[in-house]
Amino acid sequence: MSENAKTFIAKSTIKAADLDHRRKINFNIGRYNAVVPKGKEQFTDIEFTKKTAKNIKWQAIENLDEHLLTFEKNFTQRGGKVIWAENTEQAIEEILLICKVKNCKTLVKSKSMATEEIHLNVALEKNGIESVETDLGEYIQQLDGEAPYHIVTPAMHKSKEDVARLFNQKLGTPVNYTPEQLTQVARKILREKYTQAEVGVTGANFIISDIGAVAVTENEGNARLSCAFPKTHIVIVGIEKMIPSITDLSLFWPLLSTFGTGQTVTVYNTIIAGPRQPNENDGPEEMYVILLDNGRTDILKNPTQRQSLYCIRCGACLNVCPVYKNIGGHAYGATYSGPIGSVITPNLQGMKDFKHLSYASSLCGACTEVCPVKINLHELLLQNRHESVEEGLTTISEKTAWKLWKISSLNRGLMNMGNGDIKNKVVNGLFKGWAKNRSRLEFSPKTFNEMWTEQLKK
Ligand code: SF4
Repeated sequence: MSENAKTFIAKSTIKAADLDHRRKINFNIGRYNAVVPKGKEQFTDIEFTKKTAKNIKWQAIENLDEHLLTFEKNFTQRGGKVIWAENTEQAIEEILLICKVKNCKTLVKSKSMATEEIHLNVALEKNGIESVETDLGEYIQQLDGEAPYHIVTPAMHKSKEDVARLFNQKLGTPVNYTPEQLTQVARKILREKYTQAEVGVTGANFIISDIGAVAVTENEGNARLSCAFPKTHIVIVGIEKMIPSITDLSLFWPLLSTFGTGQTVTVYNTIIAGPRQPNENDGPEEMYVILLDNGRTDILKNPTQRQSLYCIRCGACLNVCPVYKNIGGHAYGATYSGPIGSVITPNLQGMKDFKHLSYASSLCGACTEVCPVKINLHELLLQNRHESVEEGLTTISEKTAWKLWKISSLNRGLMNMGNGDIKNKVVNGLFKGWAKNRSRLEFSPKTFNEMWTEQLKK
């Protein structure tokens, strides 16, 4: 078993027994569940909408090479610069280089899973650059020294009392402050940072090929401030975020907001097509888009796994997953958690170190059912398991157990040997780990043949 798998089991065992954690998660997911049906009402035929979205993403991913080049051509025409980053190291190197040229001391950052993936804050800190998270949930997590807990709601596991306590410890605010008062405190601090920062970093929800722009959707306006105040704006985005045309946003913006937060449309929706133009009053002087591969083209190579690149990071599959709701986002030990994280992490970061995530599923299919772009998530978890076996990543004891199971299942004589009690003792003795968190395997006192013969006699 890999070290990651051992840590995962240890962390998830603790979290699954943490009733306070479960209460907070159920409360926050309950609020999400209450509003999503309202958001869905805006679509006359939700199944048709999902199919259309899937088809658009299919088209985008099947022709990704062409769309990326078209994006680059259109974006650079307006003065933007495109950087292709094959991996984390290249992306970090390019960002640090820009920061060095701009003499950057403070950087403001809006929520972006791609920056989490490349551990940007750690790299900036090491190089003496203050990186300030400006999304309130991310700001809370940064104050607490924690990674985001959920791809849409970074501080989902914290109650308002937890946040008040944290602000009290870190910022000295009264412990009885309300969420509104705490928000005002964060707002005041962050406003100052926007004006100090030399560089702003954002992610992007979509890359729009035909107009050479990126689309950013948010509820707090912090992404807009992060890209409009500093003189330099850097966007870091995974190449799979591609949509072919600006007209596709009329589908994807409401779809993402409905499945992400239950809103009909998110509060601030921005299309950024380059740095400030000569006839414009605001915006950055320079704008870079870093197109991040980091293993995505490996997924693209695999015709079965490819559909996982359709993901629009709405987080809906996390919210319905019985495993996620019990063990929480941090137990996964990966940037992307929940069902989509369990599908893509072994393919992005290595099957050997992360195959265990593909087994952290009841295969109930709730994730597949909810996904707005119809990714067959539970089948892809099975596919990961299949590929890990093909790669020879199973243990000798597992291989032996399945061989024995096969031999006995194919041999009626062996199946009929001994009574139920003996079988219980042998099997539960062999598979001690199985019964640790589950009920013991119980065999019928009579064999199938005995029951069959009795049935015929009646
Ligand atoms: S896999 Fe589907 S449900 Fe899960 S985050 Fe991605 S788009 Fe949303």
